[in-house]
Amino acid sequence: MQYNKSMHTRKETISVKIGNILIGSKHPIRIQSMTNTDTSDVEATYKQIMELYDAGSEMVRITVNDEESAKSVSKIKAMLLQKNCTVPLIGDFHFNGHILLSKYPETASALDKFRINPGNIGGKDKFDTNFEKIINLAIEHGKPIRIGANWGSLSKQNIDKLIQHKENEKDDISYSNLMKKYLVDSVISSASKAISLGLPEDKIILSCKTSNVQDLIDVYEEVAKLSKHPLHLGLTEAGIGRDAIISSVSAISVLLNKGIGDTIRASLTPENISSRTEEVKVCQQILSSLGIRNYKPKVISCPGCGRTSNTYFIELSKNIKSLVQDNMPAWKRKYPGVEDLTVAVMGCIVNGPGESRHANIGISLPGNNEDPSAPVYVDGKKFKTLRGDNIELEFIDILQSYIDKNYS
Ligand code: SF4
Repeated sequence: MQYNKSMHTRKETISVKIGNILIGSKHPIRIQSMTNTDTSDVEATYKQIMELYDAGSEMVRITVNDEESAKSVSKIKAMLLQKNCTVPLIGDFHFNGHILLSKYPETASALDKFRINPGNIGGKDKFDTNFEKIINLAIEHGKPIRIGANWGSLSKQNIDKLIQHKENEKDDISYSNLMKKYLVDSVISSASKAISLGLPEDKIILSCKTSNVQDLIDVYEEVAKLSKHPLHLGLTEAGIGRDAIISSVSAISVLLNKGIGDTIRASLTPENISSRTEEVKVCQQILSSLGIRNYKPKVISCPGCGRTSNTYFIELSKNIKSLVQDNMPAWKRKYPGVEDLTVAVMGCIVNGPGESRHANIGISLPGNNEDPSAPVYVDGKKFKTLRGDNIELEFIDILQSYIDKNYS
């Protein structure tokens, strides 16, 4: 059975406005990314935000860690607006957010959301004062806040509670389960505290990240039970390369499939050769593989085997994929909804006709020892049989006419 949009039921959360977009509730699950430039380098940060935005990031987070980076934020925002780029900009604050946002009100105004980490707000005696300051700044500037705990920076207060629990309680809760318990406590209690200080509940987003897939799933299931705030998902410190991608995809997909999650990010350590936009592409692929959101037409092709002439079949699959990829920027503007199209390119009669009928358009190429003809299916019905040397061009013509007819 195929997973489709109608089967994806989201847990109901509060709707929150971030810049010009809405998240939570029934709004689309949004993709977030984060720059890795020094924010005080205005030009480099602006350039990377544009790259992430062009790749499809719907919110971009930047580090605001010192006075120079705080001073750069409004300049970066102005440059983005000059290019009509209204992507919401999120400031990532640790340790000194209350100082920077109060000293540079233009930074607070330019940002669309502040991300704070309850573990990095201040020690036992400073937490309450600093937390109150930053919440008041959010209220003053009308900005939403993400309370984002991370198990690499659990607050001192929560670590003390954990140690006391281990010393005083006779239960056999493992260290790892206690970590998860106090991580969840830290976001839930911080959200309640923010509300009691006057921050409206529709200005709060929560996240609770760990670097282990199963722990992340456990923690988010618990937070989702305890709160109605929108949840930002992501495996923290996922790592590098294929391992990081697979771990991120596993964790995020399981949670989305349970209806949990309103924004997502794949935190990948960039490899030398890969661009920062890789994390955006991974998120798009997750949403599209789960049938939640499509970003470009899907080209389905079988892996090929001894039953087909591999070179021709592989070439045709590759060419149709490139055609979609190359035309998508123009198609997006000209053919609204074309991203939901499915094209099948199949290698032989075994699964070719069946898979082609499931797609909007599909072609079943002749396998070895089959009649040298390629039936084309449109909307589940046999449309035409192609033969000879021009199969590829004729198939592309059929595809283009279908798009013209159905998405213009
Ligand atoms: S559809 Fe045919 S060619 Fe493709 S994998 Fe299946 S059996 Fe092999």
